Amino acid sequence: MTKFSDLALDPKVLQAVAEAGYETPTPIQEQAIPHALEGRDVLGIAQTGTGKTASFTLPLITLLSKGRARARMPRSLVLAPTRELAAQVAENFDIYAKHTKLTKALLIGGVSFGEQDKLIDRGVDVLIATPGRLLDHFERGKLLLTGVQVMVVDEADRMLDMGFIPDIERIFQLTPFTRQTLFFSATMAPEIERITNTFLTAPARVEVARQATTSENIEQKLIEVKPSRKDRGFAEKRAVLRALIKAEGEACTNAIIFCNRKMDVDVVAKSLKAHGFNAAAIHGDLDQSHRTKTLDAFRDGTLHLLVASDVAARGLDIPAVSHVFNFDVPSHPEDYVHRIGRTGRAGRKGKAYTLATPADEKYLANVESLVKQQIPRGENPMANVVAEVDEAPAPAPARTKRRDESRPQERRDDRREDRGNRRGDRRDGPVVGMGDHVPDFILRSFARPAKPELDLEQEADADEAQE
Ligand code: AMP
Repeated sequence: MTKFSDLALDPKVLQAVAEAGYETPTPIQEQAIPHALEGRDVLGIAQTGTGKTASFTLPLITLLSKGRARARMPRSLVLAPTRELAAQVAENFDIYAKHTKLTKALLIGGVSFGEQDKLIDRGVDVLIATPGRLLDHFERGKLLLTGVQVMVVDEADRMLDMGFIPDIERIFQLTPFTRQTLFFSATMAPEIERITNTFLTAPARVEVARQATTSENIEQKLIEVKPSRKDRGFAEKRAVLRALIKAEGEACTNAIIFCNRKMDVDVVAKSLKAHGFNAAAIHGDLDQSHRTKTLDAFRDGTLHLLVASDVAARGLDIPAVSHVFNFDVPSHPEDYVHRIGRTGRAGRKGKAYTLATPADEKYLANVESLVKQQIPRGENPMANVVAEVDEAPAPAPARTKRRDESRPQERRDDRREDRGNRRGDRRDGPVVGMGDHVPDFILRSFARPAKPELDLEQEADADEAQE
């Protein structure tokens, strides 16, 4: 078995690795590090949790151990798609470089330019950045990329999802042609393939097996939610989520709840809080200090439920999550693999629940075809309760007005969807038993509740009454 000491790393790096408690290199480290140390370009196909951060950070520190940084000319560049990932790389760098004199700067949104400028002015060995922020600094004339000897691109497939590929291409063009490139992606989409063909030179391709989705440690369940009315889907899914969490009881020591859209992340987190759960949201629109605080609370166990978007949660190193709840079936099937891989780690047992409405049929088929299995169906704990809701009278128009006013601006897409649904309702539903002579204004009042989603306090009250 390969040992770290077989890998020709700088002795100071080896010391730090030993102090970090790592005994043997992971497969991606074992494969990528020797190529990187030889100065070759590396194309690493690996996802988070495989030890890929160390697979580029350890050789990077070793390669940079000789030489000195010059003012405004970083010697290496690490690009990560999100602030959290960039911050995580920076933390890793601090651990592995602690016995060296190498310096770093972290360029991410939400952190003031001034401090970063000072560091860069002095000269840094490693510049860790998100692409947009890096280009901001460059355009302000504070930074020269002509001294970059090694460039790392981490989570390239996520960069693609986030629309960063043009920025990455531009950054490649701003660095010297002779640089060494270490490029990591969990998947090889055609666009990623194109970039690597253009900017990498005869790369060593190293690939580690996709995380097993059918890991025996992860119990997967699909909960089918059939909304009593199309426009009740969002609220009813929240009720199902709460029932599932409650049913898990103490077995749910901590959980990540994934939503496809960041506006839903906020609403789901607020709704859980209104129902007395210890929950908080993390997504890209929240400011950095808020996100850091939330993550720290989740890591140290003071926060029980983290409601997250895929982008915000991607690559975050959060150990030991007992449960993952997919509030939506992810629209990118690979995200299902990433999401449920948050639980059942390191030999522990984990549970992954996915809520699916009939509208998710296509996404679900994609997920099941990717993981090559049918996700076992679980019982919807609210099935009967939802049936009761079905029989409830339509909400009163006065309430509707208040709801409309309280509805957050960003839920416009949903409203558009709702309008479509309402039109459907008008055709099929409200006229039953009333004949053809119902005056138009009565029809309108039935069809009007745009989003019969109660505001959160009302919702909590209503549910309490029900329970
Ligand atoms: P990553 O895939 O880079 O996000 O790493 C996932 C986790 O594995 C991090 O918590 C690392 O600290 C840890 N790790 C990385 N390399 C090793 C190793 N060789 N042995 C044990 N743990 C490691």
